[in-house]
Amino acid sequence: MFDFSYSDDQLAVKKLVRKFVDKEIMPHIERWDIEQHFETSVLDRLAELGLMGVCIPEQYGGQGMDYNTLAIVCAELERGDTAFRTAVSVHTALNSMTLLQWGNGFQKEKYLKPQAQGTKVGAFGLTEPNAGSDVAAIEMRAVRDGDVYILNGGKTWISLCDIADHFLIFAKTAPDQGHRGISCFIVERDFPGVTTRGFKNKLGIRAGNTGEVFLEDVRVPAENRVGKEGEGFKIAMSALDNGRFSVAAGAVGLIDACIEASLKYAHERETFGQPIGKHQLVQQMIAKMVAGYETSRLLVYRVGWMKNRGIRNTRETSLAKWIACDAAFNAAADAVQIHGANGYSHEFPVERYMRNAKAPVIYEGTREIHQIMQAEYALGYRSDKKLRKNLPSWPFGEEIE
Ligand SMILES: Cc1cc2nc3c(=O)[nH]c(=O)nc-3n(C[C@H](O)[C@H](O)[C@H](O)COP(=O)(O)OP(=O)(O)OC[C@H]3O[C@@H](n4cnc5c(N)ncnc54)[C@H](O)[C@@H]3O)c2cc1C
Repeated sequence: MFDFSYSDDQLAVKKLVRKFVDKEIMPHIERWDIEQHFETSVLDRLAELGLMGVCIPEQYGGQGMDYNTLAIVCAELERGDTAFRTAVSVHTALNSMTLLQWGNGFQKEKYLKPQAQGTKVGAFGLTEPNAGSDVAAIEMRAVRDGDVYILNGGKTWISLCDIADHFLIFAKTAPDQGHRGISCFIVERDFPGVTTRGFKNKLGIRAGNTGEVFLEDVRVPAENRVGKEGEGFKIAMSALDNGRFSVAAGAVGLIDACIEASLKYAHERETFGQPIGKHQLVQQMIAKMVAGYETSRLLVYRVGWMKNRGIRNTRETSLAKWIACDAAFNAAADAVQIHGANGYSHEFPVERYMRNAKAPVIYEGTREIHQIMQAEYALGYRSDKKLRKNLPSWPFGEEIE
């Protein structure tokens, strides 16, 4: 059975986020972007609205809604700005959903619950200066010493680095064992030896916070290790199945914003005695945006549907992420084109959309990595093995371990 309609609950969340974005983000976003200011009160408001853990079960402080509701939140937030969707992606999808899938009872109670309630913020530290696409090349070390691990090394390009209270950090416990030597840890900002430094002058997502996390002899309790020793690579990859879903969903919102701005401008601006919307080459750009929006949406909601049913979705998520992020970047570039010189100025939002749209083509698997994945699945070089722990299907049961 196929059902393409929103449920009443999903529709209510969509309206809620749209109203919030229009009232509390849109009036300020141009200034925040110019000033490179991350407005932390937006996260507080998202928490008040129950949007920091929308698809986390109620028993762990969330709203208990389905996974496509997270997609709706991400799309609506990115219509406002990529910075806030990125925040929800790392906090909810990369961190909280990973704790939901792989964390034990203690970790869910201590870390997941406050994150889902929005009183604590989570981030995700995988990338290093010498290891981005090639995750197995990470160099951060974790050495066991009794009931703690001592972590040393640096992470880079970490979203919410200066904001987050908790980080999921990936480090090598067995450096000679490649991807099998990686383990995952919950690191609190307040642990001695943790420092962070946000970047300035990024190309886009300037209203966001991204930068470095340094760990120097940080003593992390062994009870903060997520999963087994050596299971970190699998945990990182399943975290990305959730993160990429939220990024793809955000891209749908960005295309929506591009269409909204382009239609307005195409009706208003006149050349050669008629609105530019009457010129067929302008229509072609709008048609491509509409096609990108509809195809991306369908790919994203299919992934949400699979997650709801507990079906493995690495392949479908990768496809949705690649197609939606490419479509969003193309839509943003065309939106600037439709605005002519005005598109090249801060006076119109489309230049921000274009700058913002580039990062999602790079993070959570570059376009090239997703193309390789799709080809490898098709050629039979790649398949997904059963995981030890799965994301719970939806509707959630009474007790989820
Ligand atoms: C704004 C922003 C926020 C981010 N937030 C986070 C975060 O919160 N947490 C986190 O851990 N990371 C984060 N990242 C990092 C991001 O995930 C990495 O940048 C990404 O994985 C790519 O790694 P890299 O930059 O090292 O590029 P590289 O891996 O060095 O790749 C460079 C180029 O080579 C290509 N390439 C690499 N390998 C192959 C191959 N086998 N075949 C063909 N082409 C290849 C790539 O596609 C790319 O074009 C963020 C990045 C940005 C820009």
